[in-house]
Amino acid sequence: MRPTAVIAGGRRIRRGRPRGRVADWRGEMILKICVRSKSNPGHHHFVSYDTDCGQVRCSCSDFDDIYCAHIDAPLRAGERGMVFEQDHETADRIMAMMPPIEPPVGWKASWQRNKAWRGLPTRKRAAPTKSTRHAALGISEEDMLRRPCVVFTGTFSVSRNELVAQAEQHGWRAAGMINFQTRALVVGEKAGGRKLRAAEAAGVEILSLASWSERISG
Ligand SMILES: [Zn+2]
Repeated sequence: MRPTAVIAGGRRIRRGRPRGRVADWRGEMILKICVRSKSNPGHHHFVSYDTDCGQVRCSCSDFDDIYCAHIDAPLRAGERGMVFEQDHETADRIMAMMPPIEPPVGWKASWQRNKAWRGLPTRKRAAPTKSTRHAALGISEEDMLRRPCVVFTGTFSVSRNELVAQAEQHGWRAAGMINFQTRALVVGEKAGGRKLRAAEAAGVEILSLASWSERISG
């Protein structure tokens, strides 16, 4: 049976010892840090450093002598994002005490891509913004969506904004893609073939800028 920690190895452990310093069952001093799990933020692992023999072990392998990201990130790379805040100081002390870690041959620190684990900002894809053009026209969104749709493709002598505003003034709605509501495709210079083919396939009227202008003003 293992002796209790209080009188480990026949020695009484000093009171008021610094945080993170505990004696194991042999009475050896080990430093411990708490490291968050990579996959489950609610879980954590203990990484221990034996100040007597200099061995680093992690609870994810049941304190076996297996190298892992919970050792690599905080104690070799010096990252702190995944270390419990109250253990940052202990992690710093371990790094200062131990010789530099040589990771095993072939070790890939794939945790580096895990920004959330490292406490780095993660870029989130912006939510698609809802069009508010109907508000500018003083009509409801529903009414706007019921309008016939026009798609402009290629370059024109007038700006795209102007073309869109003009179309809206005449009861149309401008869109970027051909869909089932599209009634006209206005083709400028250097127009791509994809929209033309889509328009042809959908039976959408294909117009030059001149004939489009005539159409809406007529
Ligand atoms: Zn581990």
